[in-house]
Amino acid sequence: MDYFTRREVLCAGAFLPAVIPAVMSEGEETRADTAKPKRLEEVGGYQIAEAVSGHPLAILPLGSLEYHGPHNPLGADSIIISGIAERVAVRTNALLLPTIMLTFCPSHTAHFRGTMSIRPEVMTSYFADVLRNTLQLGFTKIFVLNGHDGNIGPGRGAISEVAHQAPEAAILFANWWEFLPGEMVKKLAIFSQSNGGHGHGGPLETSSVAAFRPDLIHLSSAQDMPEPPDMSGGQPYFLQKSTAKNWPGYSGKVSEASAEKGRHLVQISEDGIVKLVDNWLAHPDDPGSW
Ligand SMILES: [Zn+2]
Repeated sequence: MDYFTRREVLCAGAFLPAVIPAVMSEGEETRADTAKPKRLEEVGGYQIAEAVSGHPLAILPLGSLEYHGPHNPLGADSIIISGIAERVAVRTNALLLPTIMLTFCPSHTAHFRGTMSIRPEVMTSYFADVLRNTLQLGFTKIFVLNGHDGNIGPGRGAISEVAHQAPEAAILFANWWEFLPGEMVKKLAIFSQSNGGHGHGGPLETSSVAAFRPDLIHLSSAQDMPEPPDMSGGQPYFLQKSTAKNWPGYSGKVSEASAEKGRHLVQISEDGIVKLVDNWLAHPDDPGSW
């Protein structure tokens, strides 16, 4: 995940809950937490045809291995997106592909020790091959569920390339953090930042990692940093610098992070993503957001 203000409006038609329930539905939470998705790597050779025909879509989660501050694991994005993808796969009866973790990381995090970055042109070709293989498996619908800003360019490039070559394919792409717009998160009043806690390694992201792996969060190792500046009033933009001077690799009031807040946020995102997928599957002939 990265700066929310860079988000692309990919999910213009996506549902966002107008009212955030104060208490999560325990029944839903329990069902999603205990049910396990069908994973591609667990499909027996003799079960392939059944696995494809028995699931309306395949989900491909995209993560990263990237420095997210001293308090977060390097696999922060991968942990969040794998956790959300598991639950979305259960709720949409999707076949779950393995999370791709070694991906492209932008210049402002690439120089931090611990970041593993693959060149964007390599990632575009790699993603395209994964998508082609998934289509050759027999799926016509693939949902690319993204957990990392650096995957947006290569991911969408690969999708465009493959969709052009396979006319029967439909490939959906969404970023989990875009289901948590800053204005909506602000209304939850769980973070004091004006942008709702967004930002690389910030309180929203740290809380979301903690929702799945609280054992990997070490808040005492980091101090609160200034929140990312709001340069556009919340509108999306993309700014890339070769270096980020005097930046410690994360931003925001990380002391406000907690697993409980993360579980609430992740649930909202998960519900919005499931709604998007359900709408997509229910209206296969609709053009989408264009
Ligand atoms: Zn991240």
